[in-house]
Amino acid sequence: MDFRSDTVTKPTQSMRNAMAKAVVGDDVYGDDPTVNELEEWVAKENGFEAALFTTSGTQANLLALMSHCERGDEYLCGQQAHNYKFEAGGAAVLGSIQPQPIENNPDGTLDFNKLTAAIKPDDSHFARTKLLSLENTINGKVLPMQYLAEAREFVDFHGLQLHLDGARVYNAAAALDVEVKEIGKYFDSMTICLSKGLAAPIGSLLLGNKAFIAKARRIRKMLGGGMRQAGILAAAGKLALTEQVPQLKIDHSNAKKLALGLAAIDGFHVNPEFIHTNIVFAKLDSTVDIKSLAQKLSQDGITISPGNPVRFVTHNDISERDIDTVLEKIKAYR
Ligand SMILES: *Cc1c(COP(=O)(O)O)cnc(C)c1O
Repeated sequence: MDFRSDTVTKPTQSMRNAMAKAVVGDDVYGDDPTVNELEEWVAKENGFEAALFTTSGTQANLLALMSHCERGDEYLCGQQAHNYKFEAGGAAVLGSIQPQPIENNPDGTLDFNKLTAAIKPDDSHFARTKLLSLENTINGKVLPMQYLAEAREFVDFHGLQLHLDGARVYNAAAALDVEVKEIGKYFDSMTICLSKGLAAPIGSLLLGNKAFIAKARRIRKMLGGGMRQAGILAAAGKLALTEQVPQLKIDHSNAKKLALGLAAIDGFHVNPEFIHTNIVFAKLDSTVDIKSLAQKLSQDGITISPGNPVRFVTHNDISERDIDTVLEKIKAYR
């Protein structure tokens, strides 16, 4: 049992079968029918004109930032945003794009007054503010639909573009019981990770209009992300977005069960208000030695990331019985 992340999911047997049988070609020539079919299908399914298969979510975000912004432009984002904090500064390093982070509210949203104050006037002293980038889910939390509508109004008013880091947007849609396109419709571009809870081994997607995706395709080549017989991966990706979607609700219910169980253990504090999807954070009292707990659990074949708060992620390779087991073990070792 590995609770560190949903990235640890292994491809399903049906993914392996589909990969073995995938019809492939050279995707840099545009010749891979399985990649082409996935890109066309995912764009249509989610209300965008076009899509691009990428090596990772980090690459998809970087392509989005570099396609929306030129050198000397800036993007507004959260202080906790993956594409600010966890992507090695790629937009600044490789795109010469300045991030302008804003403190996230506890629910993951960004305050519009703070965003307004951060937009730079048209003056040669300043970078040009071009884009607002949001993340949904963010640390497992789903952004309210009303907030997305307000974000669209905000960017339209200020003449900005709106990007969604939707690494786990399928989790957000499952939690809200809406189609992903109901979330995507507010955004100019959106990423989707296939290799997290959706269990594909490799790959992400970037969605946007045709001109935007054409620009991103050129930059993907520049970054070394042009892959050849990538249909082997796209075949698994299609199953991630079809067969694996119902699993997300199971992951969410397992996370809720885990959160409630942890909250009942001495020294663990969970805010149930923020358990929307498959990620559980628990704050620990100083009486909990999380490193030693992690070590004991590892002897039972249970892997967690020691930290405070400690983060548990549920996914396709964690069952409801596993939740019972891990809770029993934590109680015993606590
Ligand atoms: C994982 C993740 C990414 C990056 O995806 P990789 O495939 O790991 O590069 C981007 N954004 C969010 C919110 C993520 O959770």
